[in-house]
Amino acid sequence: MKTMLAARMHETGGPLLLEQIPIPEVRPTDVLVAVKACGVVPNLKNVLTKWPEWFPHLPLPKLPAIFGLDPAGVVAQVGSQVQSIRKGDRVYVNPARGCGSCRPCRSSEIVNCRGFTFQGYFGRGPLSQAVFDAYPYGGLSEYVTAPQSALVKLPDRVSFEAAARFGYLGTAYAAMRKACVGPGHSMLINGIGGTLGLCAALVGLATGVTTILGTGRNQELLDRVKALAPTRIAVFAIGKRPVEEWAMEVTDNEGVDAVIDTLPPGAPASATLDALHALRRGGRAVEIGGMAETLPLNVHWMMGMNIQLIGSCWFTTGEGQEMAEMARVGTLDLSVLQHRRISLRGINDALSSLQDANRGFNNFVVIP
Ligand SMILES: [Zn+2]
Repeated sequence: MKTMLAARMHETGGPLLLEQIPIPEVRPTDVLVAVKACGVVPNLKNVLTKWPEWFPHLPLPKLPAIFGLDPAGVVAQVGSQVQSIRKGDRVYVNPARGCGSCRPCRSSEIVNCRGFTFQGYFGRGPLSQAVFDAYPYGGLSEYVTAPQSALVKLPDRVSFEAAARFGYLGTAYAAMRKACVGPGHSMLINGIGGTLGLCAALVGLATGVTTILGTGRNQELLDRVKALAPTRIAVFAIGKRPVEEWAMEVTDNEGVDAVIDTLPPGAPASATLDALHALRRGGRAVEIGGMAETLPLNVHWMMGMNIQLIGSCWFTTGEGQEMAEMARVGTLDLSVLQHRRISLRGINDALSSLQDANRGFNNFVVIP
């Protein structure tokens, strides 16, 4: 029997143990992917150590479990009914899984499935364990299985390390599509220096958003983001005066077309609310961050201003493929990411030390 190295968690909060386990057999419509890089989510350590107190409504897989949300690699084997993916294809594995047969799943809206589950991470309800049972392999492993419909084909110029950031890039891209922003529009990214915020800036530049406003705390980091496109990006260090006041100055007193809120877990509701007030009449705000406080929102103001507030979770494999195509022709420039490579054997040390690391430009990936 052929085996592979995988990092498995045996008890909640315990270390990930490096073990040899059997390489999985592929089912007819699945593929086996040899993982070349897997993104390390800043939140992973929190999820592994603080669960279930932290987000009790988000179930983890039965233990022992292999985590790892954003794998990219090479197709090593295809099932007998796989038609358009071949051995040797370079792919990103979209970890979004659904039950497959409910009404949203049959409408290709996997994120709206009641059993929506991140392969290699956490689920969203009681149906998730069945999904974990079907796809128990996360990216902290030499191989993962995945449905053929979950693969984003990667062009040669997108490295596996850059593709391991597709979860964040895709989350930002899906939010921008919901906000309907593009050329001629302005967009405020709340928290532009973070892992998700920087990805939103890169996708905003790629999709032609004309004016990108970004807030943050660290002026040095903000200056680095502005340097990506000095004529299109304006940045603002929060704390001295309201975001709204600054945004009005930048937009000739109109307000922004869209706000993309990317603040991390632990951020206060006031920081999100402050950004929402930068919207113009008829503007749209999309929430994709981890800010978890309840928002004291005046819906009468929303009505009068014709404001929309939208929650957006993850992205479709189709949206992932669109990003890959933008990267292929160079409109999506991922060269600014600085890859920080970690071996699978170094994963426990990395999880302990990465939480406070400066995330935005640093791209932490495990190379199995
Ligand atoms: Zn479903």
